[in-house]
Amino acid sequence: MDEPVQHVELAFRPKESFTAPVSSIRKPGDQIVVSTEAKEHHATQGKSHAARRSRRYARPATESLKIPAQKEAPVQKEPVVHEWSDVPGPLHEAVLASLKEVCHDLDTLDKSGYKVREMTQEDLEGYAKCVNCRERKRVLDTKSRTVCFYHPMKRNHQEKQYKNPCCGKKRACASLPAHVYAPVQDFLLENWQNYRLTPSPEAGLCRPRQVVALDCEMVEVEGGSAEVAQICAVDILTGEVIVDKYVVPSRAVADWRTPWSGMSQKRLEEMKEAGKTVNGWEEAREALWAHIDPDTILVGQSLQHDLDIMRMVHLRVIDTAILSREAVAKDCKQNWGLKRLCKQMLDRDIQQSRSGHDCLEDTMATREVVLWCVRHPDKFQDWATSQRQWKKKADAHWKSKQKESDKIQVKKPRESVSQVLAE
Ligand SMILES: [Zn+2]
Ligand SMILES: [Zn+2]
Repeated sequence: MDEPVQHVELAFRPKESFTAPVSSIRKPGDQIVVSTEAKEHHATQGKSHAARRSRRYARPATESLKIPAQKEAPVQKEPVVHEWSDVPGPLHEAVLASLKEVCHDLDTLDKSGYKVREMTQEDLEGYAKCVNCRERKRVLDTKSRTVCFYHPMKRNHQEKQYKNPCCGKKRACASLPAHVYAPVQDFLLENWQNYRLTPSPEAGLCRPRQVVALDCEMVEVEGGSAEVAQICAVDILTGEVIVDKYVVPSRAVADWRTPWSGMSQKRLEEMKEAGKTVNGWEEAREALWAHIDPDTILVGQSLQHDLDIMRMVHLRVIDTAILSREAVAKDCKQNWGLKRLCKQMLDRDIQQSRSGHDCLEDTMATREVVLWCVRHPDKFQDWATSQRQWKKKADAHWKSKQKESDKIQVKKPRESVSQVLAE
């Protein structure tokens, strides 16, 4: 288990404070007790790690920057100014109250793919998919759909077949009186049985954080499933990095997904050397659990995936994807990615590295987005209005394109379904 105090560090230097006078802005080290020992520990630990991070996210408390030599008289070395916001202490309560207001209800979480309870046998069976319409039993049951409407021929996604080869239409062209369910695969059942509600930490451990931003990077392991390979968690109020760990997957890695995850065998070995790893998703979950309790608000972008990868059931959530999408329209189906939200809301570019996402950067960016949304409700509404207008145009454009391509389809002679099936 982590020793929370020793691992505490500030991930940013305040660039802008919300309303507090400059003198009240917290600087790294203020109010947060970090022993010299712990600092040194970090300085040595972070070296190989920080080299990869962009300069902006290097840790000011522990890293000295290499500033290119300049012709003029030596300028006094300025500490790196990180552009993540600070929330001054006196504002913590107000920010927390605003965040509580935008937590999603259980129904929203459920519909967005979050697990809202530990899994029962019935839940597990609900994951069986119909081999014909490919819908999950659980979904079909909720919608009371007993008749199976489906396309007899499936699209080949690898060949980028966007139209259904049987009929070329979106609407199902065949039906059966009942669904045919395939049994849920064993490895999935195994995963799902391990889901747990966030426990209350044992007495005597550190006080749970009130609101935490979370991001995980994942890799593909043998058998085709995913495992967590890195986990970052940041206290939204104080900006402290509370978890920053690499995870040694429990199974052999089939694909490091380096362009997204930023992970590789070499990198993991380096992190092992540096003592920055934990073993397997269970230890990753423990590392996070050490800092949170069921009342902690967890914030993330499409956080259901991060919770899934650690088999977590957590019910106090702000998902920046849901938050933004619902602001545009309550029933909006489209998701705005983190990169886009950062650009549009904060005019900030993230995920610029070609060597994959930086987990800590994504975590800090999510923190920044959610803070922006609750601190600037008017600007947030303006953003939503602009996106509504944009979406209206985009949808109209898409519809006209669709019509055009349908016309072309109609002109071409097409085999009937029965002909196709006879082959
Ligand atoms: Zn069809
Ligand atoms: Zn079906």
